[in-house]
Amino acid sequence: MSTKKTQESPGAEDRVVAMARRERDQREQGYRAQAFKLYPRICARCGREFSGKNLRELTVHHKDHNHDNNPPDGSNWELLCLYCHDNEHARYQAADSYGSGTSGEEPAPSASHTPFANLDTLLNHKK
Ligand SMILES: [Zn+2]
Ligand SMILES: [Zn+2]
Repeated sequence: MSTKKTQESPGAEDRVVAMARRERDQREQGYRAQAFKLYPRICARCGREFSGKNLRELTVHHKDHNHDNNPPDGSNWELLCLYCHDNEHARYQAADSYGSGTSGEEPAPSASHTPFANLDTLLNHKK
């Protein structure tokens, strides 16, 4: 009895990933251009203005953190500079995958519970 894994042709997965990535990029270009048409090229948080070369530091943030939600009226978009965008996502880390490299601030498990405390007294008693 041998369990065979279904083998897909090599590279197929890469191709799918590349395709998805390209699609995402295109979509991003699409809503980026549209958001720039709708909104002034200013960071909605810090008010920095962008033009020309540094315009790529101005990014489109999705208010509901759903990058698939791109209403043509721009109601889900907010123009944020890279820094403010980072901050924004740091606040809603659980809800989004943007900037997955940032370290989380998850609460450390409390150390008040020591599972061996009882064992210790138990052993001491036995001795
Ligand atoms: Zn900003
Ligand atoms: Zn965002």
